[in-house]
Amino acid sequence: MSLAREDLSVAPRAAARAVNRVKLHIIPSGPIETNAYLLCAPERGEAVLIDAPGGIWDQVVPLLEASGCRLRELWLTHGHWDHMQGAAEVVRHSGATVRAHPADRELITHPAQMSRFMRLQLELEPVSVDSWLAPGQALAALGETFAVRHVPGHCPGNVMFYSAALRAAFVGDALFRDGVGRWDLPGGNFDELAASIRTQIYTLPPATTVFPGHGETTTVEREATGNPYVSGT
Ligand SMILES: [Zn+2]
Ligand SMILES: [Zn+2]
Repeated sequence: MSLAREDLSVAPRAAARAVNRVKLHIIPSGPIETNAYLLCAPERGEAVLIDAPGGIWDQVVPLLEASGCRLRELWLTHGHWDHMQGAAEVVRHSGATVRAHPADRELITHPAQMSRFMRLQLELEPVSVDSWLAPGQALAALGETFAVRHVPGHCPGNVMFYSAALRAAFVGDALFRDGVGRWDLPGGNFDELAASIRTQIYTLPPATTVFPGHGETTTVEREATGNPYVSGT
């Protein structure tokens, strides 16, 4: 896997086997800089988008065109507005298959209820989910396998997508570099979040790159040994 942004020191950690097969674009987007992750496999002409902040489609189009990839899948790490605001537009243009966890069904299908938690009043368009995810499910895409792990505590339906071959975990808002997700929003719970992080993320190989919903990438090792909110022991 190669990283599109050159300022990321984690690139050399990517699995050698996958170099140049899956290209990752990190696209912070929307009103609160939510990270969208576009994974393209040019050899296969396929792409997967993880999360859909507002306006993401316009940023994705030139990347798809440059790599000759068609967007096949949209995976939502969770249902908060900043991760799904652009989802309906993505689906309208691409026809991508949308996957998310059923615990966030209400947020995704009736997003207007989130408007009281937004600094800006935005129109939120619901998106219809084609396939509800189950923990332990394996998703085949881009010639790789992604395991679905349930990491609630930030919200009930936060999942992560983990590829052992790519040594990459896309964790939504569960864990950040030197931080963790808010647990004070509806459905949030700190003890549950800490347990999710310890049992589902810190148990991954230490060299795994963690791609969070906001901010910089990190590694399992870095957070398990130094995260100020949830320690690895
Ligand atoms: Zn969130
Ligand atoms: Zn977020």
